[in-house]
Amino acid sequence: MAIYSPEHRRLIKVFHPQKHDEYSEVLSSLSSFMEKEILPNSSKFDSGELSIKGPRKALLQHGMCQIPFPSEYGGLGLPFSVYANAIELLGTADASIALSVEIHNAVSEGLYRYGNDGQKKEFLPDLLSGKSLASFALTEPASGSDAGTMATVAERKGGEYSISGSKMFITNAGEADLYLVFANTPKGPSCFLVESPNRGMKFGDDLKKLGMRGSRTSEVIFSDCRVPAGNLVGEEGKGADYAKEILHGARIVVAALNVGISQLAYDEALRYAKQRRAFGKSISEFQLIRAKIADMKTEINAGRLLYFYASSIKESGGDFSSEASQAKVFATEMSLRVCDQAIQIYGGYGYTSDELHRHWRDARLLTIGEGTSEVLRMLIAKRELARTP
Ligand SMILES: Cc1cc2nc3c(=O)[nH]c(=O)nc-3n(C[C@H](O)[C@H](O)[C@H](O)COP(=O)(O)OP(=O)(O)OC[C@H]3O[C@@H](n4cnc5c(N)ncnc54)[C@H](O)[C@@H]3O)c2cc1C
Repeated sequence: MAIYSPEHRRLIKVFHPQKHDEYSEVLSSLSSFMEKEILPNSSKFDSGELSIKGPRKALLQHGMCQIPFPSEYGGLGLPFSVYANAIELLGTADASIALSVEIHNAVSEGLYRYGNDGQKKEFLPDLLSGKSLASFALTEPASGSDAGTMATVAERKGGEYSISGSKMFITNAGEADLYLVFANTPKGPSCFLVESPNRGMKFGDDLKKLGMRGSRTSEVIFSDCRVPAGNLVGEEGKGADYAKEILHGARIVVAALNVGISQLAYDEALRYAKQRRAFGKSISEFQLIRAKIADMKTEINAGRLLYFYASSIKESGGDFSSEASQAKVFATEMSLRVCDQAIQIYGGYGYTSDELHRHWRDARLLTIGEGTSEVLRMLIAKRELARTP
């Protein structure tokens, strides 16, 4: 199966008429790698038979983390939409690897935007080359959507900060080498780099999940976790603003990831509809099945256009927060509809095949993670009301 399709090429050409050949080459090379090394093993990542660690490392080292960052840190300096498109392709190959890589890259983006020169020189090259893995630690057991009420604290003690508290549902926990941790200081939430191992940091058991089973999720517990004062990212008290900005970009990418999951569920359902027979004909000849195919295809294309559109506003330096949230709300909810219809087209085989209901189980996370649909609808309405005189 070719993950990078002529449709993808066409869209890159529409959004990047001057350099589409160059960008398509990068995407095509990444997708060839995914087709060989990741897609064939995705059901084994889901069942736990295979760990994503090895293939993820190989993928990170294949350039998946370099796309939107400048060459001085080892990046490729390509537009954000090319990166988002790469995550879509990875979402098709395996959603849990895509989630793990997306979080890793969100940390690189935060460090690139808010870190000082020394921090960027020290950490970015290894993150971009895939030598080290990153994790984003904001959510706590008692504060998710309302992250501003975090209880984790960071206290300055001479040349160090001491971090104490607990972070919940953290992707890549226990595997990552570098954690971007949000903790309260007297000036408000602040952001720190914590390198692992650190004797003040330990990890809870892996959480049992409905989907995204290849990626690891657990609690991270900080107990007098000491980091050098130089590991404060940006300014004390600005952590909440940094988290919000990082998450705006990440939401575009999560939308792309869900388009990728939907594309695979759709492709499989389409193939099955052509081959499955009932009442003496292929089920693809029934109008009610055709209506499903038409709606699934239309919605996937709409989701793809929304994340490309939000990316293009980000690339031009505009305020893309509403468009990023629109893309995420639409694509994540669309993905559930598409994956559900794919199960319906497969009938009893859809309900009983791990291969197929995995798509719905994976997609189910993302109307929750990185901003719930409810909270993002509030954000969209707030921005749109403020934009309207
Ligand atoms: C598998 C997985 C991986 C994750 N990875 C990470 C990670 O790497 N890093 C990280 O920091 N976090 C991570 N998270 C946490 C995720 O971002 C949070 O679960 C999410 O932000 C929601 O927070 P919550 O679960 O505390 O729900 P809550 O905030 O408690 O929300 C519960 C419900 O109330 C609704 N609600 C809340 N406020 C409002 C409101 N004002 N109006 C209307 N409805 C409202 C929500 O929409 C939701 O339906 C992950 C979560 C999971 C499950």
